[in-house]
Amino acid sequence: MSSPILGIDLGTTHSLVGVVDSGFPILLADAEGQRLTPSAVAVGEDGSLTVGRAALRQRALHPERVVTSVKRLMGRRTGESDWQPPYDLAALGLTAVDVSAAILRHLKGIAERAMEQPLNRAVITVPAFFNEPQREATQRAAVQAGLQVERLLSEPTAAALAYGLEKGSERQRVAVYDLGGGTFDVSVLELRDGVFEVLATAGNTQLGGDDLDRRIARHLLRQLQAEGGVWEASQAETVLAALTVAAEEAKKALSSAEEAPISLPFVDGIHSLSTVLTRADLERLASPWVDATRVHCQRALTDAGLDFADLDEVVLVGGSTRMPLVRQRVAQWFGRDPHVSTHPDEAIAMGAVIQAGMLAGDLRQLLLLDVTPLSLGIETYGGLMNVLIPRNSTLPCKAGEMFTNPVANQKSMLIRVLQGEREMARDNWELGRVEVPFVPGPKGSARVGVQFSIDADGLLEVLARDTHTGVDSILTIQRTAVDVTDGEVEKMIAESVDHALDDMTERQWTEAAMKGREMVDSVAAAVAALNDGMESEERASLEEAVVELKRLLEDPAQPLSRLKAAIQELDDLTQELAVRLVEQAMEESLQRRGVL
Ligand code: AMP
Repeated sequence: MSSPILGIDLGTTHSLVGVVDSGFPILLADAEGQRLTPSAVAVGEDGSLTVGRAALRQRALHPERVVTSVKRLMGRRTGESDWQPPYDLAALGLTAVDVSAAILRHLKGIAERAMEQPLNRAVITVPAFFNEPQREATQRAAVQAGLQVERLLSEPTAAALAYGLEKGSERQRVAVYDLGGGTFDVSVLELRDGVFEVLATAGNTQLGGDDLDRRIARHLLRQLQAEGGVWEASQAETVLAALTVAAEEAKKALSSAEEAPISLPFVDGIHSLSTVLTRADLERLASPWVDATRVHCQRALTDAGLDFADLDEVVLVGGSTRMPLVRQRVAQWFGRDPHVSTHPDEAIAMGAVIQAGMLAGDLRQLLLLDVTPLSLGIETYGGLMNVLIPRNSTLPCKAGEMFTNPVANQKSMLIRVLQGEREMARDNWELGRVEVPFVPGPKGSARVGVQFSIDADGLLEVLARDTHTGVDSILTIQRTAVDVTDGEVEKMIAESVDHALDDMTERQWTEAAMKGREMVDSVAAAVAALNDGMESEERASLEEAVVELKRLLEDPAQPLSRLKAAIQELDDLTQELAVRLVEQAMEESLQRRGVL
């Protein structure tokens, strides 16, 4: 099996990594159980690099040694960025690519520990507005981290994938509104034939949740000043930093609560702040901040040659879109309820994982059904229909079964996915087929699990797994294969009723025939094993019964009752044979051990 491809959101403030595992996209947690890794790297005196929360913890002591928001410096020459970092990369002996590589290596490590295997391929998201040097720098960072980049995926496209918007069959236009910690961007995408194209993108690299935190902090500072706090510029900085931390905490709490208490005893060593920030206070402070994003939405739409009303969907991503005020304003401007998720800060990573899964072939949403008008199943040995999901099942649904090899040394099993109500596979419609390889072995030794799942949108995914090796096979079905009209459904059901009796007889005949063939084989094996231990008369009657059974098996026109009788007869004749085989085996074993 090819190893999974990682999906990585290399974000300005946070990064995430995930994979498709057993058909499901998941984000992976580090040893502390956290999925979000701060995009922070601390540089030790000896040049050693520490990534994530451990790096942030060092910021209080050595702010100049902790690199954050390095994404803003990617692909830019020194001084070219409109953002001035509080650290000096050159003095630390690093480049932005080195720092990004350290973050990527850390994420790779999280995934490898979680998946217990080396992983070296990835899909990495980049902002839609990233230019060639910025993309190239990201690519270099990946290579430095030991990752082969399978695709650089634009962040809004990833978000749209996470919300499942690629499943729409028609030409769709989607706006992705991404308000994170440090930046805001909005993109307008168009989905054509299942592929997203970014029509336009706009935003502000200086507008994010952090700005709002500072606004709140200044508001709190004014309260402190009103209580008599006066500081030197340098001390004011320290106080403001403490207030900013408290401000962010309160802001987050106010996304679900109406009030957030703030208590900062002796912030400056003398004064204490004890207050309550209400949702209304926050919204007053946040209102101009949110409204500043509107002009960018308008701009992106104008560039795409569209109007708010032309959009089919609006998607929210980024941690700041958890704020009710943001959701409210977006709904108002766009005239529709936006898609929101409980983890808006994970949407881009989820999209990267989904894209990675699609590239690795682990994930394929296959075909579109409005309902399950007909039963879905697979063909089993002997040409029978084995129903996994019966007709009229309520969506979403999932069903599976384990299959084995009917013949020794088989190398693979052909799985034919069928739709229809008839007992015999050939009378149903084939939706697709997949060859599932497994390790050859004795008859009945393979274990192949086949799982059908249909999601709420009616998409069928067929997953076949050799449980010995864990190798998965996923089926590709032409979308057109499912255009089942009402007329066809009616015809199929009517035929299944008309042929019910014949079909049932044929199924029973086939099942009996499989049993008969199995007996013919095992009798031949038993006769060979007993060799001389058989009377010639006994051998003759057995051979006669075998010949008769074989003759009946050759001729499907034979009545079921005769076939069953012949099987019964052979079964009776071999009863005694079986006992003798066991006795012989025991005797041999005792002799080998020197007991007899
Ligand atoms: P991101 O860059 O997407 O990780 O978003 C981070 C930003 O989201 C930060 O400014 C956080 O303060 C903000 N954020 C996270 N959770 C919430 C929340 N529950 N309510 C408001 N803002 C939040």
